[in-house]
Amino acid sequence: MNIGTDYSSLEAVAKEYNATVLYDEPMKNHTSFKIGGACDMMIKINCEELLCRLLAICRENNIRHYVIGKGSNILVSDKGLFGVVLLLGADFSTITVEGEYITAKAGASLGAVCTAALKNSLTGFEFAYGIPGSMGGALYMNAGAYGGEMKDVVCEASYIDENYKIKTIPLEKMELSYRHSVFCGTDSCITSVKLKLRKGDSKAIKSRMDELMQRRLDKQPIEYPSAGSTFKRPEGDFAARLIEVCGLKGLSVGDAEVSQKHSGFVINKGNATAEDVKRLIEMIKERVKAQTGITLECEMLILE
Ligand SMILES: Cc1cc2nc3c(=O)[nH]c(=O)nc-3n(C[C@H](O)[C@H](O)[C@H](O)COP(=O)(O)OP(=O)(O)OC[C@H]3O[C@@H](n4cnc5c(N)ncnc54)[C@H](O)[C@@H]3O)c2cc1C
Repeated sequence: MNIGTDYSSLEAVAKEYNATVLYDEPMKNHTSFKIGGACDMMIKINCEELLCRLLAICRENNIRHYVIGKGSNILVSDKGLFGVVLLLGADFSTITVEGEYITAKAGASLGAVCTAALKNSLTGFEFAYGIPGSMGGALYMNAGAYGGEMKDVVCEASYIDENYKIKTIPLEKMELSYRHSVFCGTDSCITSVKLKLRKGDSKAIKSRMDELMQRRLDKQPIEYPSAGSTFKRPEGDFAARLIEVCGLKGLSVGDAEVSQKHSGFVINKGNATAEDVKRLIEMIKERVKAQTGITLECEMLILE
């Protein structure tokens, strides 16, 4: 707990909205890596208005805050997070379908949106099936897989700007590129994402979703906790290929290991710590640089 930070005003506002407030909450319970010490305070966001008010209190009182979706692209320090985690998850996950448009609150899971698309025979979002993130987190990183990315399907999003006002942004202004959006590195908080899909055949949609899930099961170590691909794809190559040719498959530090099944993933074999993962990442980067001359860049974000 960060002695000296007064969280009482945040708690009072959260209570007005009947939002869940947790203290000293282990972040390993909220990350796909199952790693991370406790945060001082966690508030489960359930509406935009609450989020606007909390962000205003945090900024005006210099309270450190972190916006998290499903925690599937982050590595949280073993020491935890000094500040408040604003969790955009199940309590903020309404999905609305209107014709060929799907609008989802930022906390909606990609899986739930894929299922809604399937139910309404809408095609174009199948690529996201199996990515364990939220809509907000996916737009933030322009998540993508198997030839599709958020950029192909998003038409609009809402976010909270620096004056705590909800703004709408069209696709053209989102600057979406490989694992990047205009939101990266800013304090903006995405509140909803609107997709434009196309009418399709539900059998074909289901079969594509099943096929992609099977490819993940076959190729990725999803039986172990991880944050997905550890590194970004370097220009003209693949991180997994480079790691493999450098003979690093199976390399480990503590319980953190370069997956034997897919060298692009660092996995948690049981009780890996964030320090184990960070040391392993440094070893991989050094060896790959020394042997191939290529600098690998982390895809997951390190929060400390
Ligand atoms: C097994 C596995 C497979 C994966 N496969 C893929 C894949 O195929 N393709 C791919 O792209 N990724 C993949 N990932 C990584 C990850 O699932 C995606 O990047 C996902 O979009 C992250 O969403 P999240 O909600 O978990 O984000 P989080 O991990 O919670 O957050 C990630 C970043 O986004 C920010 N953020 C989250 N929500 C918001 C918001 N509402 N407003 C502003 N900022 C926000 C956070 O502050 C943080 O900086 C995989 C991960 C795992 C564990």
